Amino acid sequence: MSSYAPPVQRLVSELSKLPGVGNRTAQRLAFYILRVSAEDASSLAAAILEVREKVGVCEVCFNLTDEPRCRICADPARDDSLICVVEEPSDVIPMERTHEYHGVYHVLGGALSPIDGIDPDDLKIAELIRRVVATDGRGEVREVVLATNPTTTGEATALHIAEELRVRAPALAVTRLASGLPVGSDLEYADEVTLGKALAGRQAVYGRGTETVRD
Ligand SMILES: [Zn+2]
Repeated sequence: MSSYAPPVQRLVSELSKLPGVGNRTAQRLAFYILRVSAEDASSLAAAILEVREKVGVCEVCFNLTDEPRCRICADPARDDSLICVVEEPSDVIPMERTHEYHGVYHVLGGALSPIDGIDPDDLKIAELIRRVVATDGRGEVREVVLATNPTTTGEATALHIAEELRVRAPALAVTRLASGLPVGSDLEYADEVTLGKALAGRQAVYGRGTETVRD
């Protein structure tokens, strides 16, 4: 390792910080980058800087965006009376791939995990409640779909939010994606057919008994 020229070593060590990239892969990527044209190397570096500079979070739903509002919130064709709550911006992508969801989103920024010190205040839960309770004259929110991951922390987060909503917005329908998603895995890895079925068969947590909710 230390036999590399310092700039190569620096690139390897930066690349190895990426998720899923071990030292071997980092070396392979570094040697690949050394072989590409100066132009390709510059555009890779520029893309990294640009994404950090220009991409922030949507003022409504906290999804990633380079505008004040993300493309989904800004789209008048989306049904903003239906809010799908997900953990991370990356969870919006599989939901969109189903082509069966036409509502809007709310990105929490993680899941409750007391062990890791992640409390309700660390997530965008208060913002969700505010969005649901005071809809700013943009029409009533009629349903919140809890689409947190089918993991221990995801389930705990869904239960916490359902309870908060039950107290603050008792007329609201609160639903959870139907089972069928692989337990313990992330939404991100669910295929669109399974996720589409889980969405179509979503179950009421409260508000409409326990029957399956149909659009
Ligand atoms: Zn948005």
